Amino acid sequence: MSTSISDIVERIATYSPDADVSAVMQAYLIAANAHQGQYRNSGEPYLSHPLEVARILADMRMDVDTIATALLHDALEDSPITKAEMTAQVGPVIAELVDGVTKIGKLKFRSKEELHAENFRKMMMAMSRDLRVILVKLADRLHNMRTLDGHKQEKQEKIARETLEVYAPIANRLGLISIKAELEDLCLSVLDPEAHAAIVTFLESTSEDRNAYIARVVKELAADLASRGIMGTVSGRAKATYSIYSKMRSNGLDANAVQDLLAFRLIVPDEVACYTMLGFVHSKYPPVPGRIKDYIARPKTNGYRSLHTTVVGPENKRVEIQIRTAEMHRIAEEGIAAHWRYKEGHLALAPSDVVEIARIREAFEGAHDSGDASDFMESVKVSFYADEVFVFTPTGEVKKFPLGATPLDFAYAVHSDVGAHCTGAKVNGKMVPLDYRMQSGDALEILTHPSQRPRRDWLEIAHTARAIQKIRRFLHQEEEQSALRMGKEILEAELQRVGWTWDKASATDEYDAYLKRRGIKNVESLFGELAHGHQSPGDVARGILPEAVWYSKNEESRRNRITGLLQRFVRKSRSPVLITGEDGLLVSYAGCCNPLPGEDVVGFITRGRGITVHRADCEQLLKLEEDRRVPVEWDLTSSTRHSHSLTISCEDRPGILAAITKVCEVQKVNIERAEARSGPGTGGTVILQVAVKDLSELTKVIRNLEKIPEVTHVSRGTR
Ligand code: MN
Repeated sequence: MSTSISDIVERIATYSPDADVSAVMQAYLIAANAHQGQYRNSGEPYLSHPLEVARILADMRMDVDTIATALLHDALEDSPITKAEMTAQVGPVIAELVDGVTKIGKLKFRSKEELHAENFRKMMMAMSRDLRVILVKLADRLHNMRTLDGHKQEKQEKIARETLEVYAPIANRLGLISIKAELEDLCLSVLDPEAHAAIVTFLESTSEDRNAYIARVVKELAADLASRGIMGTVSGRAKATYSIYSKMRSNGLDANAVQDLLAFRLIVPDEVACYTMLGFVHSKYPPVPGRIKDYIARPKTNGYRSLHTTVVGPENKRVEIQIRTAEMHRIAEEGIAAHWRYKEGHLALAPSDVVEIARIREAFEGAHDSGDASDFMESVKVSFYADEVFVFTPTGEVKKFPLGATPLDFAYAVHSDVGAHCTGAKVNGKMVPLDYRMQSGDALEILTHPSQRPRRDWLEIAHTARAIQKIRRFLHQEEEQSALRMGKEILEAELQRVGWTWDKASATDEYDAYLKRRGIKNVESLFGELAHGHQSPGDVARGILPEAVWYSKNEESRRNRITGLLQRFVRKSRSPVLITGEDGLLVSYAGCCNPLPGEDVVGFITRGRGITVHRADCEQLLKLEEDRRVPVEWDLTSSTRHSHSLTISCEDRPGILAAITKVCEVQKVNIERAEARSGPGTGGTVILQVAVKDLSELTKVIRNLEKIPEVTHVSRGTR
């Protein structure tokens, strides 16, 4: 007996008589057109599927948008209609919902591990944004599970496994208990048909006895209610097949031996009556110790509230008894759907719903540190995991990241070696920059190269604590190593002035005595202190050389240095400290002269802050202590870019900035900052901050800037 569109419209009228069903009708027409000539594996016209899905949701008394979405849920995927066309015909809300269902339908669940199943479920929730997307997807899956026969056995098993691992738990967490139970039973019939058949046969063969037993207990409990003057109802039923199966599996029993197959439910007027009846039930049937659960005082995270107790009923049979109010029952049966409904003619979230949603999120988290529930009020859209993204690894596992995380975070999450050697990434098969923000549902692939190393600017790209910590640690170690190298080079340069070498100096008694006197642990800390400027090279050299050597040679060299000519010679002859541009905190560039690779430079050891590099002809440098100067040289193999400011004097005309930008573009030089100033009579001035490799590149930029007709002068620096 198949469902027709008029069945659905009639059903909607029973719970929402004033609803405007025109969108539903419109959706039906689009769907009928889209699926024309398509058939399901069972041979039925395809349209029967969206109609049945809509029917399931109408039975859940969902709003018109959800029903229309159900009718259209396969149309985007299976027909040429576009999202834009759909938006024009049914409006943006429904089109957006359909798009959401289509998107999560494309997610492929591959992993068998529970952790990834959990993350996959969260990914679905994160991508759904609107909870109604999930409700449609669940109804879709429920109907597909009911009609699996058309598929081959292997395909059936695959769908059933996915349903058991992904969809049934989602239904459970949303409190959609009857959908969850039906999905599980259907899965069991596919995945373990023998056990399923055995349980069904057992339930059938014993149904007469059981029904008689149920009737007896119901009668006794009803009499009890009546005698206490409580208005209530009693019902009894056998538990679901899958829940019996789970019990059999965990207890290793056969169906005959499974206790408490039966569950009874008392619906009473209020909370007090729940506890009153619990007492009466226990005085009638002895409770099984440890089996009393008070979900009224402590609701389940999915919002479920009820009292549960297992008692020894007539004939010594264990039965479960649930006691709850009508309102609790409604939530128990309908779950989140109870909160997503027409309320006085329009859809709205009440504050209680917001609390509910926060609780559902908690249910998914399994944690208790829920965020501020008021955050959820900002939008009618129910956004789960707005602050997290879930992405696929190449093997189909799902990993979770904070919102804003980049492929670099992903690489470090895979392995710190993958992170350290990461050169790029592909998302869904396409190259993306390393600072790409990952989106839920993305499939990531990391490219690596053995020669790649973590870089300082990665600290700006990485978002997760793990990646940042790993990058920092690497940079720190690298800095330590370069401190050792630089400390040694600084000292060697100083020793060379007096004609000594490090090997020779470190073999002296004075050296050992010096370390002991200064409390320096070892040679590494000596070099480190030199590089960071905690010790001056002159002091150290004086300390570790035999006194006689120091005075004779040093005096001589001091005299020599008075003649400027020789000073230059001495500087050149000393082995320089290599400046790679990636020396991080150890090396900084003087703001007074902005030195660039290719220029003659001199280092100055500042106290505690490493080496500052000046141009050799910098006037500021001449004012600084000579003792602390060290020879430095650019490592020209380094490709690090240096920020440099230019002051461009020009005529104040529109379009001048564009012309300047163009020059840099042509030369592939990055502009980091551009600031135009103009004043009366002074013409225009543009301060341009560019990132250049070396002096020759900067010179070329300056030369080309000066070719712009309006430009009168370009100078380095900001004045
Ligand atoms: Mn479908």
